[in-house]
This record gives sequence, C-alpha cells and structure tokens, in this order.
Amino acid sequence: MPIDATQPYEPNNIFAKILRGEIPNKTVYEDEFALAFHDINPQAPHHILVIPKGAYVSWDDFSARAPDAEIAGFIRAVGHVAREAGLVAPGYRLLANVGQHGGQEVPHLHVHLFAGQPLGPMLAR
Ligand code: 5GP
Repeated sequence: MPIDATQPYEPNNIFAKILRGEIPNKTVYEDEFALAFHDINPQAPHHILVIPKGAYVSWDDFSARAPDAEIAGFIRAVGHVAREAGLVAPGYRLLANVGQHGGQEVPHLHVHLFAGQPLGPMLAR
C-alpha cells in the first residue's frame, strides 16, 4: 500500500529499523549522511537503495527540511555508490517514489539505483 507522504515521520518504519541495526541489511556503503544497501526484492541486476540517516519521509520532506550539509552529503553518497560499483560507463537509473501516485511504500526517503542491463522506457505504459 502506498503511503501518504504528507504524514509525519513514523519512527518504526522498516528503514528506520535498518538504520538502528534492528533489522539486517546487505550494506554497500555507509557514511555520516547515508546508508546504501541491496534491495530485498531486486528489480534489476543491480538494485541498491540509498537512504539518508536523518528522519525524512520522502524527497519532498527532505528537500524542504534537511540542512544543506545533509542534502549535499546524501546526493554525494548516491553518486559515490554508483561510481564505486562501476556503473557510470554502462549507465544507471535513479528513482525516488513519493506518496500515493509515486507508489512509495516505505515512509523513509530512499533513492533506488537500478543498473546492470538496459532499463527500458522510463514508465510502463
Ligand atoms: P518504494 O516502493 O517505497 O519506492 O520501494 C520500497 C523498496 O524497499 C522496495 O523495492 C522493496 O523491495 C524494498 N524493501 C522493503 N522492505 C525491505 C527490507 O526489509 N530490506 C530491504 N533491503 N529492502 C526492502
């Protein structure tokens, strides 16, 4: 069920639990601002989720409320993860679902990084 992205942050969401170490994850990269880990249900040969360490519901919440240092740190982490995985030359796709129409299911901002094959059209028609 997609979430309502206008709701306040829910501290027991699954990615908050991953950040607190209460649920295991396959970590790809971690720094002060971000954690990157493999999606549990990969939809491409590479399917990595990058999440900010701060408590933000969605891209909307993050872009409105996060301090500049957190935004810069998170964006740089996404780029770093793709670069370190050797994905710049073959190419990759980033996706952030927001709310109901975006199909967002986990109410903690995450950027999907897909790669490893031609990814087809942007949206299913
Ligand atoms: P959304 O639809 O919110 O953009 O994407 C949520 C993503 O989180 C999905 O691709 C789903 O497979 C992934 N996911 C959900 N629960 C877990 C989990 O416990 N661990 C990991 N690694 N990924 C999860």
